[in-house]
Amino acid sequence: MTALEDEAIDIIQKAYSGAKSDHSLSNVLKSTTSQSLLDSIRSGADRSNEIWSKLHLDRRSLQKIFENPNIPELQLPDFCKQIIFPFGPYTVNGYVFKTGDNDCVLFDAGTRAYDYLTFLNQHNLTPSKLLITHDHSDHIGGTSELRKKFPKMKVLSSSNQSIQTGDILQESNYTLTAISCSGHSIDALAYFIQAKDQNFLISGDTIFARSVGKISRNYLHSLQLIETRLLSLPEDTLILPGHGPVTTIADEKQHNPFFAKSL
Ligand SMILES: [Zn+2]
Repeated sequence: MTALEDEAIDIIQKAYSGAKSDHSLSNVLKSTTSQSLLDSIRSGADRSNEIWSKLHLDRRSLQKIFENPNIPELQLPDFCKQIIFPFGPYTVNGYVFKTGDNDCVLFDAGTRAYDYLTFLNQHNLTPSKLLITHDHSDHIGGTSELRKKFPKMKVLSSSNQSIQTGDILQESNYTLTAISCSGHSIDALAYFIQAKDQNFLISGDTIFARSVGKISRNYLHSLQLIETRLLSLPEDTLILPGHGPVTTIADEKQHNPFFAKSL
């Protein structure tokens, strides 16, 4: 088992702060507090169905996370490696995809270059590209040092307009499609990767295992974008998020409190 990024209280607080960005939800916020919602989860009381549905949270999935904030650990194939960077008391993920014996592509630059450089050195790999999901500091911190070390590496990011939604990149062993998904960050991109036997979604902070990155504008619309653009991908797609453990589209449709419908 591996620990989730967010516990039940974090998820409720994210729904609350998201709801603050949505005028249509202002009455919900007046009528209750995040602590009282956690208390109702703790006690198993089920008096406030309307509030849960207005906050777009599935109470039963939240209850399960409250009871056990861990999920089974999923294995990645040999050509794909998750790199975990320190981020204050938290962590942030980057990913290495091998594209040849000594070539690879990196996804996000983490908080620093050190962890990538150690891995790349050990495995004798040179990155041809660095693809950024969004330009928050925990995802781009290592960029300039990686650039110095690998001057031929291309940095692709929607904020420097070198990649945009709908763009398709063909690598030796997979095809990548960029998908825009704003909410956590206005110009965020997710990357859908179709390899021979497995599909992947590099989701950045749009969706995590059993949670989402903090949404600071258009809460309900942002959740809808995740549903229509990301959760519509094939169910066995592995989601490789910017924080926390690896998951699948099927598991998130069924167990993520922001999207499950088991109320
Ligand atoms: Zn982040």
